[in-house]
Amino acid sequence: MRMKVSLAEPDIGEEEAQAVYEVVRSGWINEGKKVREFEEVFAAYIGSKYAIATFNGTVGLHLMLLAYGIGSGDEVIVPSLTFISTVTSVMHVGAKPVFAEINPLTFNLDPDDIEYRITNRTKAIIPVHYGGQPADMIPILEIAEKYQLHVFEDAAEAHGAEYASKKVGIFGHAAMFSFTPTKNITTGEGGMITTNDLEIAKNIRLFKNHGQDFQYHHVAIGYNYRMTEMQAALGLKQLQKLDRIIAKKRKNAKFLSTEISQINGLSPPFMGKNRKHTYMLYTISIEPEQIKLSRDEILHALKTRGIEAKIYFPPVHLQPVFRKLGCQEGMLPITEKVCKNILSLPFHSKLNQEHLWYMVTSLREILSS
Ligand SMILES: *Cc1c(COP(=O)(O)O)cnc(C)c1O
Repeated sequence: MRMKVSLAEPDIGEEEAQAVYEVVRSGWINEGKKVREFEEVFAAYIGSKYAIATFNGTVGLHLMLLAYGIGSGDEVIVPSLTFISTVTSVMHVGAKPVFAEINPLTFNLDPDDIEYRITNRTKAIIPVHYGGQPADMIPILEIAEKYQLHVFEDAAEAHGAEYASKKVGIFGHAAMFSFTPTKNITTGEGGMITTNDLEIAKNIRLFKNHGQDFQYHHVAIGYNYRMTEMQAALGLKQLQKLDRIIAKKRKNAKFLSTEISQINGLSPPFMGKNRKHTYMLYTISIEPEQIKLSRDEILHALKTRGIEAKIYFPPVHLQPVFRKLGCQEGMLPITEKVCKNILSLPFHSKLNQEHLWYMVTSLREILSS
């Protein structure tokens, strides 16, 4: 029996369609009341004082860095196992990204290696909550305090994830969430910044709207990074579903992890202490010494069986554009080794028991062939 298990399937229904329809027919479609409401509800969900909506997550990172005055001559510490815009947003403000190693089990920034990379130019750290597993925020915040650095959480993949019983998005000076269709909830494109700092929230609003404090009065060089009312209407409905989506994913992960841990040569996602994962990604690791097939052969075999597994992510520092900038293989041995041996299984919230069994039996068959 062959099944199709697609990589991403957003949970969008009639409620979302109706909400967007109403906005479209209301006569007001650019940023307005719905966006304000989405921001308020999102801030309340995370537990932050302020939330600022943006057109996508990437520009959210750009805005945070701008609002904190990060720029030319500054260094910002980032992981390489992430989506590229964690790193390019640092370059968009003219600062230099400095790669640090990850913990090979949690795939999140390794606090000791962060400290090792600090220079007198370092201004900030961007921990990524990889796949919905929170980064190790307590030691990261201690380092930040010791060296007077800003911490910007890349929480693009981690809406609702918890660390020490608190939702991510309130640990750093500011945090960014993304709503692209592969994330746990989506607005097509969309982003949100959370912060507890009123001045910063004001600055972010200024930069996202052409630097104007009131219409046609520009006090800064800004951008147009506003959200639309359609995105916000979609987002409000999606946010109501988030806890249910996370609960279902946790249940599915429990099942899948129990099965996968019994397959020789595979490891399920590792759970860090004191953390609650949201499984935007379900990333497994391969122990190459125990398996005849390579990671890419396994990936190919899964695809042949209709399972849209994927590599999240090839390391940023080995992308052609970064090689041109002088990055090379061997620079981050731990990250490079992890990136060679991981693969993410489809894990959207509509997967049922049949899909899960199909993935488990497929993996068993592929590995024993
Ligand atoms: C999705 C993602 C982004 C970018 O968000 P967009 O909304 O697509 O711009 C940034 N960082 C990480 C870790 C992501 O997964």
